[in-house]
Amino acid sequence: MRAQDLLEDIHLSCPDATTRRQSLTTEMKELEKKEQDCMQCPGHCCTYQNNSMLVDPFQALELWVYLERNGLLEKYLPILKKNIQEFRLDKEVFIGKGREFRRYYTCPFFKQTNCGCPIDPNYKPYGCLAFNPLEKGVTESGHCESNLDLLQQRDDKFGDIEQRVNQRIKDELGLYWDKKSIPVALIELSKKLSE
Ligand code: SF4
Ligand code: SF4
Repeated sequence: MRAQDLLEDIHLSCPDATTRRQSLTTEMKELEKKEQDCMQCPGHCCTYQNNSMLVDPFQALELWVYLERNGLLEKYLPILKKNIQEFRLDKEVFIGKGREFRRYYTCPFFKQTNCGCPIDPNYKPYGCLAFNPLEKGVTESGHCESNLDLLQQRDDKFGDIEQRVNQRIKDELGLYWDKKSIPVALIELSKKLSE
């Protein structure tokens, strides 16, 4: 099945990517108006020192379709594979009760510069969108925070339907996982979509 067909079918009965991220993107814009932005920061939160972002199958599928629609898959597939090797992201280590050890990694999309995320906010992982500066002109780590209240409110609104969508994607593509690092989730999708 083509990823775009699956996503379009899912969005017939579930709010789209933009709508489900709206509270997070709106908050980010409000902070930017107050100059609580990332303009002067080299991007600490996207590097292996701080980043351990995980995505579920739904977020991964939306990101995949974003890359596909923008002709970026060919460029990024080898980068994703190299990133997995570099940070050993495919080495699963379970730490009890089915929980997997969470590895830190530099995001394969990060461009190693200020404002170095090339992904449209409407397709970014929720966790990336919710992590913002607490003050103006941040240049170092430790001055930013994840807005957990906003993440919870978003989850309260869309969590049930997203859970059903995640199950549908898992069933249709034969995925065994609930959350994976960004590169592993995308490569897993790549394998299943090409079967
Ligand atoms: S959220 Fe904070 S650490 Fe991340 S790029 Fe922005 S200012 Fe830097
Ligand atoms: S998706 Fe963008 S914001 Fe999120 S970790 Fe990667 S580069 Fe950073």
